[in-house]
Amino acid sequence: MFFIRVCVKKGLTPCGFRYFCGMDIEIITIGDELLIGQTIDTNSVYLAQVLAPMGLNISRKTAIKDQKDAIIGSLNESFKRVDFVILTGGLGPTNDDITKSVLQSYFQCGSRIDESVLEHLRLIFKNRGPELFEINKMQATLPDCCKTLFNSQGTAPGMWFMKEGKYLAAMPGVPGEVRAITEESLIPILAPLFKLPPALHRTLSTALIPESIIAQKLQNFESTLNGCGLAYLPSHNVVKLRLSRKNPELSEQKFKAYWQQLIETLGDWIFCEDDLSMSEWLLNLTLDKNLTFATAESCTGGYIGNQIVQLSGASQAYLGTVTAYHNNIKEEVLGVKKSTLNSHGAVSSETALEMVEGLCRLFRADIGIATTGIAGPSGGTADKPVGTIFIAIKFRDKISVKQYTLRGGRLDFMIRAMNTAMKQLKEMI
Ligand code: AMP
Ligand code: MG
Repeated sequence: MFFIRVCVKKGLTPCGFRYFCGMDIEIITIGDELLIGQTIDTNSVYLAQVLAPMGLNISRKTAIKDQKDAIIGSLNESFKRVDFVILTGGLGPTNDDITKSVLQSYFQCGSRIDESVLEHLRLIFKNRGPELFEINKMQATLPDCCKTLFNSQGTAPGMWFMKEGKYLAAMPGVPGEVRAITEESLIPILAPLFKLPPALHRTLSTALIPESIIAQKLQNFESTLNGCGLAYLPSHNVVKLRLSRKNPELSEQKFKAYWQQLIETLGDWIFCEDDLSMSEWLLNLTLDKNLTFATAESCTGGYIGNQIVQLSGASQAYLGTVTAYHNNIKEEVLGVKKSTLNSHGAVSSETALEMVEGLCRLFRADIGIATTGIAGPSGGTADKPVGTIFIAIKFRDKISVKQYTLRGGRLDFMIRAMNTAMKQLKEMI
């Protein structure tokens, strides 16, 4: 019923809908810290990731202060455009968090104590030690016109309001709690309420090819797309391409045909046909082929290893890293010759080569990855400017050493180094 009304509002009939006849929604994030750059808003990113596939299109995100006028003003604005708003933040028990009282006056209702929340709070505080303080007890007091969105991970419950065809979900700011409330309490309400055609997306990635070049190659393909859109998502020498169904009437079969056409047009420019991070790609590859790998990292300082060990199951393929930042470690642990370091320097193809050889000897790994370079901003020279990196990869008895120039600050440099190394590895395997 809701779906039909939204379509009609846009001047479209329920069965003759055109583009984006999903459900537009807005997200409001509340918190002074979001506006002074102290906290990065990850909640709206998470919400978009889980809601978009349900056919809920995030049409706008707004970040505002913990301030009554800002909250009311934003809600009024958002509800002029859409019928469903999600907000996060400002539900803590302290004085700086005012969202709950503002919503109570916005919806003009009284308050009630939610016994199940009170019980949950007693349990949390029993385990934590101290008795339940008044300030926490207050967290079980909610506007009497909302449904409670139970928060299994924290003390501030979420709230679900419905009034005159408008829907509002309010959640605390803590990202883990937003996740728990969304998955355990919100989605079970949304799924039956908004019966929307599921979104259809697929993402592939390319590596070390500029997006402008890719765009040229795909010019004809893009001009044939009808009811589907292609998005370019460039980051650190990787361009992800996301094909999305825009018209719900486009069949899955037609979508698959477009996807196949995209794959064929790009050919070996494709790095990976799934939306994987480089670390996921590497781990999948090594697990699939039953290979082990190790890293010897100078300029990346363990970044590559760190990305890998964030993944569950890493220990089945990843042996470890030597963070050979200082020349002594390159020499003493990896066996790089002093003469190599003296005559060619630490940042050289010769050093990279000896690093990867020493690494594979030490770890007896099937694959070795070694990096040595100048992340900057200082340390560059005329023949080896900032950004210079040598990457050596050994795969069984094959070795490849390549030189690149990478852009960006120190972290950008490391991310690009990892992405570049993966591309180099893929070319060898
Ligand atoms: P609050 O619910 O406002 O008390 O926020 C609790 C915690 O969540 C604080 O540490 C905030 O910085 C953090 N937080 C609030 N909003 C967001 C957001 N949109 N993304 C990530 N963290 C947030
Ligand atoms: Mg806050």
